[in-house]
Amino acid sequence: MTNKELKAWNKEKEIIEIMIKKYCHKKHRTKKDNLCEECNELLEYSLFRLEKCPFKKNKKFCNFCKVHCYNKDMREKIKKVMRYSGPRLIFSHPIFVFKHLIQKIKQK
Ligand SMILES: [Zn+2]
Repeated sequence: MTNKELKAWNKEKEIIEIMIKKYCHKKHRTKKDNLCEECNELLEYSLFRLEKCPFKKNKKFCNFCKVHCYNKDMREKIKKVMRYSGPRLIFSHPIFVFKHLIQKIKQK
């Protein structure tokens, strides 16, 4: 991976964490660095999936990825998180960082 790719990669991990935190703070009334059990599980799951993604070198392939990144349950949860936190982050974070994530969730 090039440095640039690596940077985008780390950014994506950061974004997931920020989004889940935002959501959890609002919906589950947690504070600062704390997450409720459910959201913590979701975060760990998301980071794990990112780490395991076989196509992280070339994100374009996410569309054709045969690996089921998110199981149904987790997909529903992360969708809710993104629906809530996504629009709130779009101004502070460039949109490209969402692309990979969105592709992961959209696949059939
Ligand atoms: Zn929560």
